[in-house]
Amino acid sequence: SATPATLSAISNRANHGVLFKGGAAMEALSTMTELFTDKTGTLTYGEFSVVEYDLPEDYLKEVVYMEQQSSHPIAEAIVSQFQHIPLDKVDQSEPVEEITGSGLIKGELRIGKPSDFIEYANIREYTNKSKEGYTMVIVGEKNAIVGYFLLADQVRREAVQAVSDFQKEGIKVTLLTGDNEEVAKKVSDEVAIQSYASSCLPEDKINWIQNSQKEGEVVGMIGDGVNDAPALAHADIGIAMGSGSSVAMETSEVVMVKNDLNKLYDSYKVSQKLNQVIR
Ligand code: ADP
Ligand code: MG
Repeated sequence: SATPATLSAISNRANHGVLFKGGAAMEALSTMTELFTDKTGTLTYGEFSVVEYDLPEDYLKEVVYMEQQSSHPIAEAIVSQFQHIPLDKVDQSEPVEEITGSGLIKGELRIGKPSDFIEYANIREYTNKSKEGYTMVIVGEKNAIVGYFLLADQVRREAVQAVSDFQKEGIKVTLLTGDNEEVAKKVSDEVAIQSYASSCLPEDKINWIQNSQKEGEVVGMIGDGVNDAPALAHADIGIAMGSGSSVAMETSEVVMVKNDLNKLYDSYKVSQKLNQVIR
């Protein structure tokens, strides 16, 4: 069981919006040697806005209806930006399926990232419209792509300082994202993060973590999405953003209620001091 000093540190951290689920979590954080981080909602606010789109009105209605079934930040942005459009004539009986991990939404249409549409003959015509740093969403019918969206998100103000602080401590920080190479690179540059891996499926995130663990690293992972939950569970210290999905919070040892990454660094320093005292 936790010592009085540990309990007091846990309560102090809780006052700063960082919830530790027990003394073991605080001890684990003090020994962390490597940190993986998700992008959307974690290093960024996860508050997208549609900056450009091209899609016939009937398809747009169908997309809004389908995205209403998804809780991804991209879905929320599309639904809220086009909420004024009446969804008449949309067949709401057609089932909508969300492929967890790849982010593909399937129903009357297919909605997802360009890499899910490489077998479509007219994909080039659309990827040519992508702009560096924007997330592209493609809308396809059975055999042809019918439109696209470009969305923008912003890096969290505290992310740059927090990542720099961890890297100065000798902790290797790596971005793991389901998003494309260009966006991964742009965010890595903006946050000055040492390395990144793009187009990651949930199992790819797990692989990165397990490979580091095999090399003897004590691995932390920060994330917020349903698709991060398996990786958060495999990490030595899973850290969930409070703004994220409940499954991410349930599978993590630490919950960042206020989403402030600087508070995570402060907590890391507190955990180290505590363990020096105990040892
Ligand atoms: P990250 O790892 O950066 O948090 P995700 O794994 O959540 O990103 O999503 C990966 C990609 O899948 C997104 O960049 C987006 O292109 C696509 N995607 C996910 N959910 C949706 C959705 N509801 N609608 C359209 N595209 C989606
Ligand atoms: Mg995310």
